[in-house]
Amino acid sequence: MPYDVTLIPGDGTGPEITEATRRVLEATGVEFNWHVHQAGLSVLEKTGTVLPEEVIASIRETKVGLKGPITTPVGKGFRSANVALRKSLDLYANLRPAKSFPGLRSRYENIDLIICRENTEDLYAGIEFQRGTPELDELIDFIGRATKTNLSHDAAISIKYISVPASRRIVKFAFDYARDNNRRKVTAVHKANIMKFSDGLFLQVAQEVAKEYPDIQFEDRIVDNMCMQLVQKPELYDVLVLPNLYGDILSDLSAGLIGGLGVAPGANIGADYAVFEPVHGSAPKYAGQNKVNPMAMMFSGVLMLRHLKEREAANRLESALAAVIAEGKNVTYDLKPRPDDPTAVGTSQVADAVIAKMNA
Ligand code: NAD
Repeated sequence: MPYDVTLIPGDGTGPEITEATRRVLEATGVEFNWHVHQAGLSVLEKTGTVLPEEVIASIRETKVGLKGPITTPVGKGFRSANVALRKSLDLYANLRPAKSFPGLRSRYENIDLIICRENTEDLYAGIEFQRGTPELDELIDFIGRATKTNLSHDAAISIKYISVPASRRIVKFAFDYARDNNRRKVTAVHKANIMKFSDGLFLQVAQEVAKEYPDIQFEDRIVDNMCMQLVQKPELYDVLVLPNLYGDILSDLSAGLIGGLGVAPGANIGADYAVFEPVHGSAPKYAGQNKVNPMAMMFSGVLMLRHLKEREAANRLESALAAVIAEGKNVTYDLKPRPDDPTAVGTSQVADAVIAKMNA
């Protein structure tokens, strides 16, 4: 029986890397019935939204999505389709593994980190108050009365919302992941020394949940120290669990440790649905050029195969990717010694090389 999977090509370079990924997934021999749905800039004009309701409806039906990146304007315009997708399907866990492969140009070897990022709240909940609005004035007046502080009204406010249920389930997700994947340690990352109530609550919940998993080590780190530690001695860490914002930032840092965004995969997982996508964005300046690296999305496909319990196919695709990386020949510009290396190949040629390795 083929697997029903919702395929969202996204925009910018999304459609090219999605097509390359679809080809390598089909070459594993696993059969898919793709439900292709458009989201992002390509549908905004036609539908008035970057995330049409049919996309959500399709994932509710198939339960699994594979998604290319979607552009979000910075500091203005519409809200992120990615955040909306995660919120409407309650994809509360963002799993972002960072693993070294021989041949990736990096300052480090043997990195094997798992980032478990809370995906629904924190500063990313979208609870914001715009400068010059009556709601902002009201909120500032309230804060003034409640905290006896005198705040300027010439301002804007984003709310950092951290709840016990959401903290509990992401920390449990991290511990369950550790247990199921023979990992030794979970590190909770926070800034509870300064944000005593919000991050303090996240830490307190993490400490409570840790007691339910005596077989897994637990520790916590303050986020700024964690950044330094990851750069200095990443081998000390294993599974990291973080609130949304720190998780986003540290997963890019971790992608940097293994050789860049071109190879960093991700999964958004909830109780009922899962959507797999690369960590990187739509890299719009390269759209339509058959230039960017499809491997981050292909590695996201490996995570999807594991989620579907197609372990053998997942391992074969991962080994083929590792072999192409190790050979260093049929790789895109970002994996070459210099970005202007004339021997760099294009997005679709990477798919050809990965398929050839799987068939070898
Ligand atoms: P980006 O990840 O698109 O690009 C950052 C840098 O990495 C650029 O130099 C880019 O060329 C390079 N890069 C990215 N992916 C690459 C790949 N596969 N191969 C080779 N090089 C690659 O980040 P950005 O420029 O900050 O964001 C661009 C847009 O993407 C923004 O609108 C942002 O909101 C959106 N975005 C979407 C997602 C998502 O859909 N999940 C995630 C992050 C950013």
